[in-house]
Amino acid sequence: MRGGGVRALSAVARGVTGASSSPGARSRWPVTRSTTANPGAYLSSTRTPQASGCGSASSSARALYSTQRETKSETPPSFAFAFDIDGVLLHVAKPIPGAAKTLRYLQDHNIPFILLTNGGGKLEAERVKDLSSKLGVHLTTENFVQSHTPFRQLVEGGDGEENSLRDKTILVTGADAAKCRDIAESYGFKNVITPADILFAHPSVFPFDPLLESVYASTHRALPKPIYAPGGGRSLTNSLKIDAMFVFNDPRDWALDIQVIADLLLSHAGYLGTYSSKNADPSLPACGWQQDGQPPLYFSNADLFWSTGFHLPRFGQGAFQAAVAGVWRRITGGHELQRRAIGKPYGETYRFAELVLGAHRHEILRTQGYHEPPGTLRSVYMVGDNPESDIAGANEYASEVGTEWCSVLVRTGVWSPERGGQEVLKGRLEPKVVVDDVEAAVRWALEREGWKM
Ligand SMILES: [Mg+2]
Repeated sequence: MRGGGVRALSAVARGVTGASSSPGARSRWPVTRSTTANPGAYLSSTRTPQASGCGSASSSARALYSTQRETKSETPPSFAFAFDIDGVLLHVAKPIPGAAKTLRYLQDHNIPFILLTNGGGKLEAERVKDLSSKLGVHLTTENFVQSHTPFRQLVEGGDGEENSLRDKTILVTGADAAKCRDIAESYGFKNVITPADILFAHPSVFPFDPLLESVYASTHRALPKPIYAPGGGRSLTNSLKIDAMFVFNDPRDWALDIQVIADLLLSHAGYLGTYSSKNADPSLPACGWQQDGQPPLYFSNADLFWSTGFHLPRFGQGAFQAAVAGVWRRITGGHELQRRAIGKPYGETYRFAELVLGAHRHEILRTQGYHEPPGTLRSVYMVGDNPESDIAGANEYASEVGTEWCSVLVRTGVWSPERGGQEVLKGRLEPKVVVDDVEAAVRWALEREGWKM
């Protein structure tokens, strides 16, 4: 079902926006919805007054759940939470103290929340099952958004089916490209190929073969059409055409992936094996680079580094993106790679999260017997550990329905006064408040909302 209150945003299907645009810029993604809730119906309803401005965290050390006061509210909460996972709920797969009981408290009191992570590479259902097991809290995919989850919007396209990628051919890659294919197919993409498919069908695409048998042979599928070869007697329309490229999570084999992506960025209209006659034409915009119907390139996560079990941060998908852009600059003599990046801190991901959260909240209210829209979702508290993604994203996101996104930084993850320091928390990276952990974050927000604990 397509959301009635969501604008048609077809520009994304043309894939023309560079990742250099402001992360908080309004989304230009087409949006469709798979739930039965109608965001336009209740998100546009009467707004309730804003709470007073964000202040500093309460110095009270009392526990969130220490009181026995009745928490039943006459009206449902007009606020909700968005939690990052790594560094907020988990640290290297282990629950952070207070995280589980905090989520249970919110569930018990019908206060909506979503989990919003830049992680990916697994089916949402698998990830949620794993997370539920680690935290000991029952969670569902209904309120879960990982880095590539917004890609599912592109199955339907924008307002018109002409932008739908459902039946188009897309290339996906990631840490485990075969797994990424499974995820893409679960979203509804019907024709998904991986670099392994291309390499297996045409080994000379990448003339370094040690991994061909040991890695790629086991995961490849037959290409839907052969790769174009000049003089081969095959017409273009009977050759493989890629309509979009998706980086689902952090690729392992950068060399093969960059080669295939560059081939398609240089092609005529996505026909692998062709070379656009517009490339390097100085009479054309951008000297003709990416001006010939090449497939748009999507990245799901801009994080340059991420925190792992090693004592120093490791490269994330942002490093791969930088590598692709660097090679592209060398190929084109300095032109910037046109690509689309989502994930935190980009506004597209926050807008998608807001829709998911709105639908989840709607469902909670419905099960409580609120059949009429009770009011706008007034505030969302984004609780995260990373100023560059969680905090900057919440600060810069401009909700189209007027929802306030209030950034709350915790000390249990990548940032701490010792690592990063207070001085970096300025401008777009300045949270509304800094607290010790997720439990303190929720306590601060509930106090701010006047919620009786
Ligand atoms: Mg984190």
